Amino acid sequence: ERVDMPKLMTSIFDDAQAYNRDYGHLIDLHIDSQLDVYGSYGYLNSALLNLVTNAIKYTPKGGVVKIAWQEVREGCLFSVQDNGIGIAPEHLERLTERFYRVDSGRSRSTGGTGLGLAIVKHVLYQHGAKLKVDSQEGKGSTFSVFFPARCIYREKAESTKKKGRQKVTHNTDAIEDSS
Ligand code: ATP
Ligand code: MG
Repeated sequence: ERVDMPKLMTSIFDDAQAYNRDYGHLIDLHIDSQLDVYGSYGYLNSALLNLVTNAIKYTPKGGVVKIAWQEVREGCLFSVQDNGIGIAPEHLERLTERFYRVDSGRSRSTGGTGLGLAIVKHVLYQHGAKLKVDSQEGKGSTFSVFFPARCIYREKAESTKKKGRQKVTHNTDAIEDSS
């Protein structure tokens, strides 16, 4: 199945806005690539939305959550960045284990089973994509999902490439004009 990523991103953004009503964060959406991926729209939606709701949930009120879809070297990248509570290095490794939650021992205000990331990791693995976590305790986290070139729908890649080239010519002209 061809997953329309720009459409999926917009849908994730809408769901995030609804989920965000209790938190009042600023949610930022960047769709910098029009490329699609191979896979299941439904499973990808729940996996990526899970990362977004985590970002919202683990960020104190009035934070900033940035969601992006962009082209990178050798593939595409989905990312969600928050300026929330962050995760200490000793927890990062075990984060995607089933039922693992950072402070499950203590009483905590946020609900959840700790299953989210285990499922996310599995779904992404099925899609040939890779999950990466960058986090600093007290500063925030970035969860990025890398889709290598073989997971990207090429058909649109070709037409975008052509457009891309035209754009480059345009940009160069503009730079020359202004100098
Ligand atoms: P569930 O998703 O099943 O409702 P959960 O959100 O607690 O529950 P996971 O999504 O698997 O479970 O996340 C595991 C743990 O990783 C969380 O309990 C939380 O401690 C930590 N975590 C996940 N995302 C973030 C984030 N963006 N910032 C800080 N901590 C996070
Ligand atoms: Mg979760």
